[in-house]
Amino acid sequence: MASFLDFAETCQALSQTGSRLQIVELASDLLSRLAVDEAACAARFMVGRPSPQGAPKKLQVSGRAIWRIVNQISGEAQPDEEIFASAADFGEAIEILMRSAGGQREPTLTIAEVDRRFQEIAAIEGRNSRARKLDTLRELFARAIPLEGKYLAKILIGEMRHGLSEGLMVDAIARMASRPIAEVRRAHMLESDLGRLVLELRCAATPTVEPTGAQADLSARPADAEPPGAVRPRPSIVKPLRPMLAAPASSIAEAFRILDGRLALELKLDGARVQIHCHAGAVHIFSRRMNEVTSSLPEVVEWMSRVGRDAIFDGEVVAINQQGHQLAFQQVMRRFGRQREIERLRVEQPMRLYLFDLISLDGGLLTDAAYVDRHAALQEIADAAQLAMPRRIVPDSLTQGEGFYARALAEGYEGVMAKALASRYTPGVRGRGWLKIKGVNTFDLVIVAADWGYGRRHGWLSNYHLAARDEQSGEFVEVGKTFKGLSDADFIEMTARLQALKIREAGGTVYVRPEVVVEVAYSDIQRSPRYIGGMALRFARIVGVRSDKRPDEADSIAAVAAAFDRQILKPAPRAEG
Ligand code: AMP
Repeated sequence: MASFLDFAETCQALSQTGSRLQIVELASDLLSRLAVDEAACAARFMVGRPSPQGAPKKLQVSGRAIWRIVNQISGEAQPDEEIFASAADFGEAIEILMRSAGGQREPTLTIAEVDRRFQEIAAIEGRNSRARKLDTLRELFARAIPLEGKYLAKILIGEMRHGLSEGLMVDAIARMASRPIAEVRRAHMLESDLGRLVLELRCAATPTVEPTGAQADLSARPADAEPPGAVRPRPSIVKPLRPMLAAPASSIAEAFRILDGRLALELKLDGARVQIHCHAGAVHIFSRRMNEVTSSLPEVVEWMSRVGRDAIFDGEVVAINQQGHQLAFQQVMRRFGRQREIERLRVEQPMRLYLFDLISLDGGLLTDAAYVDRHAALQEIADAAQLAMPRRIVPDSLTQGEGFYARALAEGYEGVMAKALASRYTPGVRGRGWLKIKGVNTFDLVIVAADWGYGRRHGWLSNYHLAARDEQSGEFVEVGKTFKGLSDADFIEMTARLQALKIREAGGTVYVRPEVVVEVAYSDIQRSPRYIGGMALRFARIVGVRSDKRPDEADSIAAVAAAFDRQILKPAPRAEG
């Protein structure tokens, strides 16, 4: 059994080097010396994920709860303000607090035990579940030495701050398995959970190694699989793939330039992404975050039952009103994940489904097929089953493309998607195969802090600090603040949500775990020495909360910088509001 201290010391070493090469080496050395189950857990933990991707139950432990528990264990040894003033982040504050309590304890925690405890906490439900979750958490922290406590806290709040991004972790897994990086990156496209990726590669390398304990049921081995020791079959259960992502482009002309004129344009619908698996006569629907939402969308199941073939589709469900007009994205999300009163909601909030891609057909993956070919196959199935697809053209000139875009905006669509005719389907990748061109400049940003309001907004967290993702370090870099765009009801809801994510508070600002993604419209980007990234969004306004996006899917600081560079080439925008 590997000690959790070994894990914590590796994370500590990661945070002390700026070299990407060394980061990959340190991480892969740790994975290599661990048993397969523990390596799977460590791979997740190192990127701040306490549970496997898509796990149905979440831990739901806030930074505030962790702080309170550790304070109790340590006997409130030092005032909070003093600790926060000297700590670089929340994890370090926990470490200082635990150290200040004194006392010597031998490290006894193992990685497997930490994983078991995390899963136990996630599984607690029903009466008094909150108190029981905290009791288990308390037992875990009571066993930890300060350095372990630091990394337990960091994993739980998902903020590692040691420079190991998910991308570098994939490179580390490739090094661990002595496999080409390109091959492992590709495997990661199909298997988004890093732990299962480790299992897959380690078990493929040594077929006699079977995962045991907690990991065994996660490895998706069917009940009738061959006995341990045999070469493991490919998982056969229905498992979502990561959706392909779109990169922003500022205009149709730019999309033509990037894609060399060989593109199709499709309407960009403002709904919620769905991945639909038709398998052995059954239909399974997954959200963009890869949660199964089949039971919330019975009408989609009915429509898709007409397909009658094994296939995986990519599409969008949109909410419509009585007149058949499309409603805002927030209305769609009301239907997602609902377990009760589905029949009533189905009548109250009708939906439409549009299919735009075909990822697999008759058991074969189509990810390597060109978009035009996937689209042709999709069209055939959709026609036969009377399923809708977004309006689309393959423009033969820029003028024709710009006409399509202008019409789309005039009809109230948020923009268009430009798709390279020859592009492959790249799960989880924001490549250049798909470009989104929107009528309004927006970024998806993460709220990292909020200021208490005054005047009419007294008692609400109402001025939000917005951050973009730094793809290299995995950290969030602030690019602006705004209190615009939300209704009073939204402010109340957001205040409660952010308070549950609170890490610390100082001078009227509440710092939170970076979990809430919001779509932010802005007029332009200006240089700003006040922000570390050197850029600030002007006239920022929240357009909506993107509950379908994870923080690691927010726009990157590189995307903000690219938009900044692009606008330098354009005439200065009009000042407004
Ligand atoms: P965004 O959410 O702004 O990153 O834009 C990408 C999203 O647009 C996708 O995840 C889909 O949910 C949505 N979308 C709407 N229409 C289409 C379409 N025709 N093709 C692909 N994605 C679309």
